[in-house]
Amino acid sequence: MKPGRRLKVAIIGAGASGILAAIKLQEIGQDDIRIFEKAADMGGTWRDNRYPGIACDVPSHLYRYSFEANPEWSRVCASGDEIWAYLRDVYERYDVARHVAFGSEVTKAVFHDGRWELETEKGAAGSYDVVVTAMGILRYPLYPDIKGLTDFSGPALHSARWDPETDLLGNRVGIIGCGSTGTQIIPAIVDKVRSLTLFQRTPQWILRLPNTPIAEEDKAIFRRSPEAMQQRYDLLAHEFNSKFAAAVVGENERAYARMVERCEEHLESSVQDPELRAKLRPDYKVGCRRLILSDGFYEAIQRPNARLVTETISRVVPQGIRTANGELHELDMLILATGYDAHAGMSPMTIIGENGVSIDEAWADGARAYLGVAAPGFPNWFMIGGPNSPIGNFSFIMTAETQMGYIVQLIARIVSGEAPSLAPKPKVVDDFYAALALQMGNTIWASGCRNWYMNKQGEIASWPWTFDHFRTMLTAPDLEDFVITDVKVAS
Ligand code: NAP
Repeated sequence: MKPGRRLKVAIIGAGASGILAAIKLQEIGQDDIRIFEKAADMGGTWRDNRYPGIACDVPSHLYRYSFEANPEWSRVCASGDEIWAYLRDVYERYDVARHVAFGSEVTKAVFHDGRWELETEKGAAGSYDVVVTAMGILRYPLYPDIKGLTDFSGPALHSARWDPETDLLGNRVGIIGCGSTGTQIIPAIVDKVRSLTLFQRTPQWILRLPNTPIAEEDKAIFRRSPEAMQQRYDLLAHEFNSKFAAAVVGENERAYARMVERCEEHLESSVQDPELRAKLRPDYKVGCRRLILSDGFYEAIQRPNARLVTETISRVVPQGIRTANGELHELDMLILATGYDAHAGMSPMTIIGENGVSIDEAWADGARAYLGVAAPGFPNWFMIGGPNSPIGNFSFIMTAETQMGYIVQLIARIVSGEAPSLAPKPKVVDDFYAALALQMGNTIWASGCRNWYMNKQGEIASWPWTFDHFRTMLTAPDLEDFVITDVKVAS
């Protein structure tokens, strides 16, 4: 063992969490970093999602790096472009670009002699002491399994593959899907299109979140006072983490009751026609699916040129969509706001850990990671946003910072030689998952609806405790939880 090792670290992904990982590694003096990015630019989900109306439904004064406040946010919930620009600004100021290899999708990683040998589609890509995956959770668009989709004569665009040049003006537009994405697109386009038809399979509970501009006086205060921005951040963190996130895991009944009341009130007061209101009313509990925070969906769907269709789609035909009642809905353009495959694991990588066991074999009965961060048999392989990381109505950047804070402490032990190579003990992970399964039953997600938090095994792959508990659990790693092995270090 050699104290003060200089590590070679691979980060996979140059989105918000990959940028964070590089910054935090630089902070501890580890600068030999390679960021593998499959695309031609940084930005992750904010690069990929360019659909009309895109914004983050978490207020921007919370959806930011804790160490990089931004007094210039233009609205309560900034647009996708503004968030992408913020990330680029941080990326440039911390000189993250020098680490990045664009157009480099890692396809294979093999643990050999204490190091990770990586491959991209171009071939061998070097060997690394540590790998940090920062690939995001919602990276594979899910296309609906609807007959005839390719027969459609007009453009059919998935929201995550939107072409910003798309001209909607005067078109008859159909949209499938009314999750967080569909409900952002609809108010943004309804006044531009000739007609808008929403094909809704399952209605959603929607909380009103007015997305007002931030006043110039407030921006001036934020520019002068970092303390004011910190106060705003703390206040929002309290609202979203201690109230919202706690409510859905059964830890804040008052906040939950208030959430239900606000959703009911929003629907009742916004939708005039009782028939339409009934169609928009979900039959599952508030929060069972990720809650929609919207400014304007109910108003938009009541516009004279908008129509809500709840009949099942039977097939897509060249002229439009035919529903089960035989009706043909003629369309010029189709928008697929049909979500993502959130359970693609480490795809497209083949990862071979200790003893030649692949991650697909290790996760054959469901993906598992200790605290969403590390898996037994895969030493020095760390994940941001791994299985059972907290996902929900709060800032994923906060989740990433919490996990990276924990990972950096583990990396410091690798550097010092205290734990040259480490992976969680199988028993620790088994115990963690036994506790997790017990707690999951108390969450609102397990109350009987279908939601994307559920993995292919039908288990809910989120964090079933409060966000505060998440932060407590990840405050400082306990090396007792890990199998520690020595590695040969080249001198
Ligand atoms: P989603 O919540 O998974 O919604 C997909 C929609 O497509 C649902 O309405 C679904 O209906 C419908 N759908 C899928 N296949 C269909 C089919 N064959 N026929 C009819 N309808 C079909 O996807 P999303 O709206 O893209 O959101 C996914 C997640 O992305 C969100 O939960 C959130 O975490 C994240 N997101 C965040 C923001 C933000 O502002 N922070 C914005 C957008 C997205 P069913 O409900 O019946 O399945």
